[in-house]
Amino acid sequence: MDLRENIAGIRAGIAAAARAAGRDPESVTLLAATKTQSSDTIRAAIAAGVTVCGENRVQELTAHLADNAYAGAEVHFIGHLQTNKVKYVVGKVALIHSISSEKLLRAVSAQADKLGLVQDVLLEINLAGEASKSGFTPEEAPPAAALCAQLPGVRLRGLMCIPPAAGAPGENLPYFQNLHQIAVDITREILDNKTDMDVLSMGMSGDWPDAVAAGSTCIRVGSALFGPRPPMSPGKG
Ligand SMILES: *Cc1c(COP(=O)(O)O)cnc(C)c1O
Repeated sequence: MDLRENIAGIRAGIAAAARAAGRDPESVTLLAATKTQSSDTIRAAIAAGVTVCGENRVQELTAHLADNAYAGAEVHFIGHLQTNKVKYVVGKVALIHSISSEKLLRAVSAQADKLGLVQDVLLEINLAGEASKSGFTPEEAPPAAALCAQLPGVRLRGLMCIPPAAGAPGENLPYFQNLHQIAVDITREILDNKTDMDVLSMGMSGDWPDAVAAGSTCIRVGSALFGPRPPMSPGKG
């Protein structure tokens, strides 16, 4: 795995996809999904130009923070988060992508409030209604956004989705367009255009060109950067 080569290849692809969609390539952040990677690999990725890392698991986040592995980059939380673990995440990451329930939203706000800070968050939307995945339904998204505006400890920065694994290019484009539209509707109809929503976190190794075409501002890429991961058990923060 040549990290520099992979990063350069993905950045060139982002630029091409963005230009084809009439978008500024600079408006798309490449987030390195670092699950299962060692602190040394994370450091190598940052040395090679990665500016944002995304962690899935509280345990790995905590270990890498203790190692100072993210020095020189931002770290975000992108994985399933249990309410009893918010204290390990709130205030330690720049952005939580995976607010998947009202209960979690309230817990994150309460913890941030306790620490005297405001946590930037995204609402995770389960677009395909997959039982195996967390997230708000598209119908639940507007009231959840309205709730964010009332809770003192959170600032809603946008939306995130993890659609089904794409079998072919183009397959997930409708999901990404759907998430974009939900964000537009929330901005106009729920938040009266008074909002800090400027992030659409969508696109992974298998489908990011379609996500960029549909307006993604943050693609979360793991295996296309670091190579295939050893299989891991699902869930568990
Ligand atoms: C693992 C993961 C990614 C990256 O997946 P790849 O297919 O390896 O690019 C992105 N987002 C989330 C939430 C993940 O868990």
